[in-house]
Amino acid sequence: MKKKNLAIIGYGGMGGWHAINARKSDVVELHGIYDINPAQYDVRPMRDCEIKYSCLDDVLNDPDVDLVTIAVPNDCHKEITIKSLEHGKAVICEKPVALNSEELEEMIAASERTGSLFTVHQNRRWDTDILCVKDYCVEKESLGKIISVESRVHGSHGIPGDWRKEKAHGGGMVLDWGVHLIDQALFAFPGNVTSVYARMDHIKNDEVDDGCHIVMTFESGVVYTVEVGTCNYINLPRFYVRGESGTAQIDLWNNDTMNVTVMKIEEDHDVTPVKVQTGISKTMAPRTKETIESLIVPFPESDVHDFYRNVCRAMDGKETQLITHPQLRRVMKIMEASFESAEKNEVIHGIF
Ligand code: NAD
Repeated sequence: MKKKNLAIIGYGGMGGWHAINARKSDVVELHGIYDINPAQYDVRPMRDCEIKYSCLDDVLNDPDVDLVTIAVPNDCHKEITIKSLEHGKAVICEKPVALNSEELEEMIAASERTGSLFTVHQNRRWDTDILCVKDYCVEKESLGKIISVESRVHGSHGIPGDWRKEKAHGGGMVLDWGVHLIDQALFAFPGNVTSVYARMDHIKNDEVDDGCHIVMTFESGVVYTVEVGTCNYINLPRFYVRGESGTAQIDLWNNDTMNVTVMKIEEDHDVTPVKVQTGISKTMAPRTKETIESLIVPFPESDVHDFYRNVCRAMDGKETQLITHPQLRRVMKIMEASFESAEKNEVIHGIF
């Protein structure tokens, strides 16, 4: 397959990431970059690319550009996506795809009208931790029926940068990180979500959430909690999965294994109470070694370049795109339900 010519629009942190990865890609050629702020070209001089466009129209009127990746602040996604589609370019938009469902519908309509591919860089579907949870806990059912999942990302620096702190630019942690964790949940766990309950942090920022705690209940009964924290000086585990016959935990980002304890045999004898602080407890007594098995489960292989590979094959009609419009709609509806829930302090019921 001939490599597709890629132009990157927005050459900040994530635009730079796309440029570096495009250099290593077997399906795209980094053709050009454009940033509204020319100072960005000095920050990362031309080592990344030959063409530095001076305006968006120059990118979109360049007949050699097949595909654009849009890595600008969230409030600019819609306008640049629609314009790019209307110029016949295939579009990869960064997450969150848009600020709300209305914007997303306009973008999808533009893709349908023009026939140009439009997808979103939900790269965290290629994270090996969620792939391990999906494979071991969901597909192999190694913990028995899943009861609950906790998926957390914790930092202690508050909201980084400038535009992420402002509502007008689509700031806040639901749109920044919540979108990834919700997308992972829907990717890994089957069936509809039937209710959403959320609380938002406003620890150092009144305007947008600087953390969120979102509880989604799947129709299967799985209760899936997504938590983003920016004021956590001690991190909770990245994943904690409870099944009826086992528990799995992934401690840190850069782990490459998951800790699992599964039940081998039910304890049919009376449990011996243990001393617990000022009292005793049978309920909290640890299991005897013979009844459980502890395992270390290696993460599966994953290659994030498969995202661009899929996009390029989909452009040629050889594959269907992996990040689909209905999936984008579901994630957006859950984010909107989260904001509504937090505002009303109510559970939002529906079919998501
Ligand atoms: P950033 O502030 O580092 O960079 C944004 C760049 O866009 C800046 O250089 C700015 O000058 C430029 N820009 C602003 N308006 C523009 C316009 N109208 N036209 C062209 N350029 C414009 O931000 P970032 O961290 O790179 O985030 C950019 C996007 O990437 C956001 O949507 C963010 O959510 C997303 N992102 C995704 C991931 C991921 O893992 N998928 C990670 C980080 C950021």
